Amino acid sequence: MTDQPTATTTEENKFYESFSRNFDNAAKYTKIDRGMLAQIKACNAVYQMQFPVEIDGEIEVIEAYRIQHSHHRLPTKGGIRYSSVVNQQEVMALASLMTFKCALVDVPFGGAKGGVRISPRNYTVKQLENITRRYTTELIKKKFIGPGIDVPAPDYGTSAREMGWIVDTYRILGGEDINASACVTGKPVQIGGIRGRTEATGRGVYYATREVLQDKELMNSINMPTGTAGKTIAIQGLGNVGSHTATICQKEGGMKIVSVSEYEGAIYSADGIDVEKLIKHRAETGSILDFEGAENMDDRFDTLYVECDVLIPAALENQLHADNADRVRAKIVAEAANGPITADGEKILLDNNVIIIPDLFANSGGVTVSYFEWLKNLDHVRFGRMDKRFNENTYISMVNLIERLTGEKVNVEEKLDLTKGGDEIDLVRSGLEETMITAYSSIRAEMKKSDIPDMRSAAYAVALNKVASDYSQLGVFP
Ligand code: GLU
Repeated sequence: MTDQPTATTTEENKFYESFSRNFDNAAKYTKIDRGMLAQIKACNAVYQMQFPVEIDGEIEVIEAYRIQHSHHRLPTKGGIRYSSVVNQQEVMALASLMTFKCALVDVPFGGAKGGVRISPRNYTVKQLENITRRYTTELIKKKFIGPGIDVPAPDYGTSAREMGWIVDTYRILGGEDINASACVTGKPVQIGGIRGRTEATGRGVYYATREVLQDKELMNSINMPTGTAGKTIAIQGLGNVGSHTATICQKEGGMKIVSVSEYEGAIYSADGIDVEKLIKHRAETGSILDFEGAENMDDRFDTLYVECDVLIPAALENQLHADNADRVRAKIVAEAANGPITADGEKILLDNNVIIIPDLFANSGGVTVSYFEWLKNLDHVRFGRMDKRFNENTYISMVNLIERLTGEKVNVEEKLDLTKGGDEIDLVRSGLEETMITAYSSIRAEMKKSDIPDMRSAAYAVALNKVASDYSQLGVFP
């Protein structure tokens, strides 16, 4: 989805307020004392900036933010959002969410987030580059970026392209730093990015959803047979997260996409929408509407209310709230976006026995693979390159052993393609899959151990305990 209708002040607060309520709810299931909870909840550093950029010969003053929520682990980490509704409360909520997302999946970073209040569609590529470079310069000046300080990544309205400009600006102005490429993740692969990062959030959403769908106990509670095959999905947003989620759910999970919505409208097909064809159709026509085999829906929000197994909001926050959550007919909602359900909306959905796969788990695939990218940058070696040599040597010793024991000659060249490079993408995908499976088990274990009825509170409780343990061991300075 591109932009939302202009946010009012109460809408601006709603996201942070929902985060705050989620935090407080989960805290009840922990033994963390009040002072520590206050320390964990507070945003450590809020940097609001206003800088001028020349647009078409005129000065435009741009409002932007970088907020570091928690310094219990460093660097801090989180994306940069470009949207016309960016505001301090929103970035605070997003930065806070990053802390708990990282803790849940054992990514050793504190949470942060950046936002630039612009609608990217209103600018040329060169103007966007100027805005990005100026924003990065402000971050460098105030030491709000660096491989060991704070590491941005793409978010809504930004992509690998912007990350390329950021790393270049940092290399020029950030001082001599052999680890400069680790100052930002989600970069293009040729300049230090990692294969599999672009699809990572969507792939993580798929793994999260698959784990839930395979969970017998949970599926029994909503009378749904286990497994992904044939399950129906409605998806809001066909941006980076939405498009990869949909494609992977369809291709690897055998799921059927019955409705898709975007800024320009929504479509429906009971027989299923081929997402790859739809993406092509949108690239050609500029719209998802009038797609062969699907019907146009009256309103772009209608996707949220179609009958399906899994609803996947993959756009922006505050989409399901007190006034519309009752209309949801899906049995499961997977939060591919950050904060798509308000705290009031959540209450209604839970009362209606809807399972919510919370954002801090569902969309943690992006930051997980960002972590792999950061490690790769600090190591200065491609994933798999060293393992390949190791694997080959192990393989050859085993072959030698077999030959000695059996007395027969084994043709090594035939068995092992020694010309092939290590498969970075396979390592990234398996590392991500393992991360999501482990995180899911920890959420389910917490639900059982502390008798927590919903997945969000359990995920927060797991994360809160980890952050509290770090803080208590670090002590308070001075
Ligand atoms: N923007 C993504 C998120 O909300 C990714 C953050 C990152 O990779 O640092 O999780």
